[in-house]
Amino acid sequence: MSWSNALVKEILKPESLIISSEIAVVIADKFPKARHHYLVLPLADIPSIFHLNRSHLPLLEELHLLARNVVEVKGLHWQDFNVGFHAEPSMQRLHLHVVSRDFVSPSLKNKKHWNSFNTELFVPYTKLYSQLEKENSISRLSKSLKDELLAKPLICNQCEFVAKNLPTLKEHLVAHLQDPKSIRKRTTSENKRTSSSP
Ligand code: AMP
Ligand code: ZN
Repeated sequence: MSWSNALVKEILKPESLIISSEIAVVIADKFPKARHHYLVLPLADIPSIFHLNRSHLPLLEELHLLARNVVEVKGLHWQDFNVGFHAEPSMQRLHLHVVSRDFVSPSLKNKKHWNSFNTELFVPYTKLYSQLEKENSISRLSKSLKDELLAKPLICNQCEFVAKNLPTLKEHLVAHLQDPKSIRKRTTSENKRTSSSP
């Protein structure tokens, strides 16, 4: 079985399931990109968002319900999460990401990781749902748009700070988590430092 089938393999293991219903399951992301990162997958063999049509809208609603359930079961707050799909998924089997907005995690290792969750490469659940309702399918982004989004600067998801590299962004994200109130002041000075550095 190829690496891209790892999620299919994972949902066959009862011990991997955090929550399950008759048609979908929730597992923990093995390489979490934030403090809390879950994946919601249907049991039906739907390879990706590109295999969806209007008939799948009730299934999407079930995935969304399980996303809400896992956040509740874990005692976390729904408003602290981004919930959506990758515009260009890498793993087989449709999966809804439920990822906390802190993005503090050792598995967040490169610019691709950041931009795939924090640009249009991440399609919020509601956006995908409406697209499917209107158009009856999900279209692929063009290669040039994908490349453009991957190359975007590292812009913080919680303020206007633009980091010069990933370690700087990660440090900044930890500061948001530890002291959310002080971040505005820090951001102004950080951006000045970044723009004046060679
Ligand atoms: P995507 O880019 O949308 O296809 O995301 C695939 C996700 O699956 C990534 O967030 C990976 O960290 C995660 N992942 C890869 N292998 C496994 C695994 N064996 N179990 C759980 N999650 C995994
Ligand atoms: Zn910030």
